[in-house]
Amino acid sequence: MTGHHSLSDMLTLRQAASLLGVQPQTLRRWESEGKLSARRTGPRGLRRYARRDVQRLLQSQDVRVRNAQQVVVEVARAISGSLDLHAVAKTVVEAAVRVVGSDRCAIYLVSADRTTIEPLWGTDVTDPASAERLFFPNPIPIDALPLVRHALQQPQPLVIDDTETHPLSNPELFRFFETRTVINVGLRGTDGEVFAVMPFLWTGQPHFVRDDDVFLAQSLAALAEVALSNARLFEEIEQERQRATIINDVVHDVHGGRDLGDTLTRAIKSLVQQLHADEGAIFLIDPQGTSIVGAAETHTHSAGRVGVVAPLQSVPLVARVVEHQRPRLVTIQETEGNERQWFESLQIQSSLYVPLLAQGKLVGIAFANYRNRTPHLKARDTLFADALAAQCALAMERVQLLESASARAAELEAVIAQMQEGVIIADRDGRIVLVNEYAAQLHGTAKLGVAPDDYSEAYHLSRLDGTPYPPLELPLSRAVLQGETVSNAEWRITLADGSEVIASGSATPLAGADGTRLGAVLVVRDVTARRKLEAEKDQFLSVVSHELRTPLTTIKGLTELAVRRIDRGVNPAAVLGSLHNVSKQVRRMEGLIGDLLDIRRLETGTLPLDCQVHDLWPLVEEARDRAQAITDRHTIEAQLDAMKPLRVYVDKGRLDQVFDNILSNAIKYSPDGGMIVLMLSRNDDQAVLRISDQGIGIPEQGREQLFERFYRGANVPPSEYGGLGIGLALSREIVQRHSGTLILEGTSPRGSTFQLCLPLV
Ligand code: ADP
Repeated sequence: MTGHHSLSDMLTLRQAASLLGVQPQTLRRWESEGKLSARRTGPRGLRRYARRDVQRLLQSQDVRVRNAQQVVVEVARAISGSLDLHAVAKTVVEAAVRVVGSDRCAIYLVSADRTTIEPLWGTDVTDPASAERLFFPNPIPIDALPLVRHALQQPQPLVIDDTETHPLSNPELFRFFETRTVINVGLRGTDGEVFAVMPFLWTGQPHFVRDDDVFLAQSLAALAEVALSNARLFEEIEQERQRATIINDVVHDVHGGRDLGDTLTRAIKSLVQQLHADEGAIFLIDPQGTSIVGAAETHTHSAGRVGVVAPLQSVPLVARVVEHQRPRLVTIQETEGNERQWFESLQIQSSLYVPLLAQGKLVGIAFANYRNRTPHLKARDTLFADALAAQCALAMERVQLLESASARAAELEAVIAQMQEGVIIADRDGRIVLVNEYAAQLHGTAKLGVAPDDYSEAYHLSRLDGTPYPPLELPLSRAVLQGETVSNAEWRITLADGSEVIASGSATPLAGADGTRLGAVLVVRDVTARRKLEAEKDQFLSVVSHELRTPLTTIKGLTELAVRRIDRGVNPAAVLGSLHNVSKQVRRMEGLIGDLLDIRRLETGTLPLDCQVHDLWPLVEEARDRAQAITDRHTIEAQLDAMKPLRVYVDKGRLDQVFDNILSNAIKYSPDGGMIVLMLSRNDDQAVLRISDQGIGIPEQGREQLFERFYRGANVPPSEYGGLGIGLALSREIVQRHSGTLILEGTSPRGSTFQLCLPLV
């Protein structure tokens, strides 16, 4: 380090003394008398020695101080950048032995609880190989080292010139290490406390310690003090950074929704590790504040603290924590009663109590326990404990919040699921995230994750007129993308089986409490039945007005004609034909209005039946006769293929109405005339009447609706075939009220057959 003028070349005072054969006591006396100070020492004081030798001695002293200054500067330079405690200690210690000229030098760190010292680095110039043996034993208790205890209170250098006689020495120990002379210097940290001691040791014979030696030892120690303080500060900063990371991890856990047990276990492990405790645990206070529950621990005790539940009052330390609201180190000496028992059962000497506070409310307690000692905790240690505890409390609070929120969400979900309206929810990107049961049924699908561009396709939507619905014009798209509220829009849904549904819906954008866009909700209803009813009503009105107008026009024309002819003096008898015609049209109108009234009565259940037992065959024959009377283009036949009588319990007037309806259809829908056959037979306990015509038949499409009110076949344009479309509906209702059936048995373009069954009495 010092090149060719290395310190080993220098003469130490001891070396000079032995060179000159001067006894150490004599040298010390000279020193105290100032005879050895470089300037004032004259040849007379050293008369017994050769002037040449003394000059050599004085010269060597000068060289030593000059070289020492240089070394100090160089060491300072070497360690100024280093933040590694050991590297710094090694550099300083190795320079120190050479500058001061001791045989050994070391730096011992004082433990946090100030009970032991532990070597950081040490060196032995007389036997470098033995340094390890000398300086790296287990921590040494300070109680065994009076000089160290002294240094903790008094960091000024302490000189023990002879370990055999000095009061602050323990000769046995020093004898073991063959140490006779010691200069011990305390190193003080930025907080003013001694954090390390730096002994300079001479072996063998007692060494004569000069002011220079002490001065140099002090300089080197000061150097070590600064360098080590920096390194320690760096370590502290590093530790603070670590602690910040730990807290940050817990924060992450909290926001990441990590399992509470895991979070707390990690937190307590970190607390125990950072505060050098032996073990720790976290207890939670239940939301009712009645009991305390073990939630996390670093070591599994035989009792096992996780999951243990105890009444709050039975835990004595809770009162203490509640009182202080801050982390607090409690030693066994302070405890009594239950708390003392607790300490004894855990076999601990002290425990740091850390309250878990959420918005000022105590929600739990963390402990860091020390088995055999009471640690010397710094403010930054308790600050760390406090910050960590605050995050744990936050984690708990959040879990509780989440639990209640998820309970609320589950309720809401159940409500939405069971709503008798369709609900579809899209997120802020418009992706579908929820489709309730009703909406799924309505669309025949509940695809999730669908983006606005694909709504129409995924949910089979089109405009009412059947044209494609541009997806971005759909209500839900407009609500999500434009933030629009769309009310009562209608569209068409085509199901897999080809059937169509008309949907009506309203879409509303969803916003969070702070106004951020969350997505949109669509509420949708099936309005097919309503729309159909409306269409039916329209159709009914137009048909009814048409049907009533036709006879009215005829009546009007005929009566006007009759009046004119009578005015002109025509014989009233000649007008009679017209009047018959008028009366026929009036009857037709009567019939129409009667049918309308009947259908209404059937619907409201107010159509009275006056039933009696009748033989069916005569009724069929009568119907044939009535029908034949109104047509001469058709031949109407009645056939019986069963044993008479076929007795049925019926309202004769109503049954006649049914026969007349079917027969008038058979006539009406076979415009070219032909045969109409009424065939009565028996099938078990049923009477079966088949009515066949040779008419236009009924096209495939619409056969199912034949018996619906106001339904008229597509093959019967109103201009050619009059009618309200209620004949068959009315007939089926009447038959059903007689516990019978009326169906279309068969049809082709050459005719149709209706089949009517009635139970026999
Ligand atoms: P309307 O005859 O007044 O139209 P209905 O209820 O009696 O009403 O008949 C409903 C429809 O059934 C008719 O419009 C017609 O299309 C069809 N229909 C009924 N009977 C026959 C039949 N014998 N031949 C062909 N089509 C028929």
